[in-house]
Amino acid sequence: MTKSNLILLALDASPILTLLERTLNATGFEVALASEREGLNKSLQEAVPALVIIGQRFAAEDGLELSKEMLERFPTLPIILYAETDDADLAKQALRAGLSDYLSPPLKVEDISNAVNRSIARARQLGDWLRREVKRTTSSLAEKAKLSESERTKLEAIINNIQDGVIVLDDQRKILMGNRSVRTIFNLGDKTLIGKPLEDVISNADVLALSTRSGENSLKYHEVNFDDGRVFNAQYTPIPKIGSAITMQDISYLKELDRLKNDFVHTVSHDLRSPLTAILGYTELIGRTGPLNDNQVEFLHRLQGSVQHITALINDLLDLGRLEAGFDARREVVHLDNILKYTLDMVELQARKKKITLTTKVDPELKPLRANPIRIRQMLDNLVSNAVKYTQDEGAVKVELSMRDGQIVLRVEDNGAGIPSEEQSRVFDKFYRATNMADNEKVEGSGLGLAIVKSIVESHQGRVWVESTLGSGSAFFVLLPTEEA
Ligand code: ADP
Repeated sequence: MTKSNLILLALDASPILTLLERTLNATGFEVALASEREGLNKSLQEAVPALVIIGQRFAAEDGLELSKEMLERFPTLPIILYAETDDADLAKQALRAGLSDYLSPPLKVEDISNAVNRSIARARQLGDWLRREVKRTTSSLAEKAKLSESERTKLEAIINNIQDGVIVLDDQRKILMGNRSVRTIFNLGDKTLIGKPLEDVISNADVLALSTRSGENSLKYHEVNFDDGRVFNAQYTPIPKIGSAITMQDISYLKELDRLKNDFVHTVSHDLRSPLTAILGYTELIGRTGPLNDNQVEFLHRLQGSVQHITALINDLLDLGRLEAGFDARREVVHLDNILKYTLDMVELQARKKKITLTTKVDPELKPLRANPIRIRQMLDNLVSNAVKYTQDEGAVKVELSMRDGQIVLRVEDNGAGIPSEEQSRVFDKFYRATNMADNEKVEGSGLGLAIVKSIVESHQGRVWVESTLGSGSAFFVLLPTEEA
């Protein structure tokens, strides 16, 4: 606490001390005396005076050094140094050290009261200014805090009311925020979420896997399944300096629609197959019932070609249906390089016709897989025959099998048509055919091959993706975990 009327004198007993004491008392100040360092400290502790006058030497100590110590504790305290003899150097040192004035004999009463009043007035000015500044800064901080508080409330209300589930995690995967939808999705009631590690609150394996695979950009989108049949689409987004956010949308109804559509396609394809087999059988019988003219033979061939095309399409659809329904449980030890040989035999004729150079490179350390060999063959057939199909005459197709982190990497590269970048994510969709070929060189196809490849790869816990540049070529990659992995 500051005593506005109190002046502390830290001077050894002398006539000057008596003079100061009397003068100050007479001018209306209260005076306290300190006789040594401890007394000085004690007095300062009890009440900070309006001013200190200290002797150049005080209780056998250096008054200037003591003043510096005092200023360190009370930077706005006015201190006047009294020197027994006038010394310009000392005066300079005192002012540099931050003391407010300097007195030396001969001392007149007027000099004393002028110096004291000046120092006190200056200190008051400084104090007032400081108080004003503190008040200004505090009120501006308070204003800002009020603003950010209202922004925060607004943001919280928005996030709380959106339909998507939102969980924000810090970099230790502790929950910073979870909105109302999250509580509903995971049936959390009023449970405390904030500050808890994610796994303490949420046990869904898909969400936990998503939050731990955070480093992998390619796994930003994820399907989250619940035992009761609900399916959510989840995204993982890293947030710099905060941690990450997981957002989830309910796609159960889309999944149900997809299932109904698949069931329909599966049933229709199945029912179409028998009449098609009958048509094919009868077209073959026609030739045996009597001689045909050249036109009739040609028409019959065309008819058979079309029926075979439809049958292949239906077989693809049925295959997809089986793969998507998870009926593909057969697993045995498979050496990918052996299967690749059959695929190469199959495409060789077509490649030769188009004068395409077909090269292969197989890592001698290639590990075997646990897989369904028929499906793996189908996957290789589709990828390699596509590469040949979508590459112009005299192009090149490279097939490479290598190992990376205990996984097999298949790379099928061509220098053909390439795929426009905006269509690359869609070529794995059913029936999607890219616009990379000009109409006059359209290649025949159903748009199902890559959808089948994707289903096969995923049923073997692998990943497939494409890197391509329109006009320069494409590289399809498949990553498959080996038996050991
Ligand atoms: P399809 O070949 O029967 O059309 P796919 O599902 O195998 O069906 O392929 C889908 C589409 O992806 C193709 O129509 C084609 O536009 C594009 N595509 C596939 N492979 C390649 C490739 N190697 N080079 C360029 N485009 C390709």
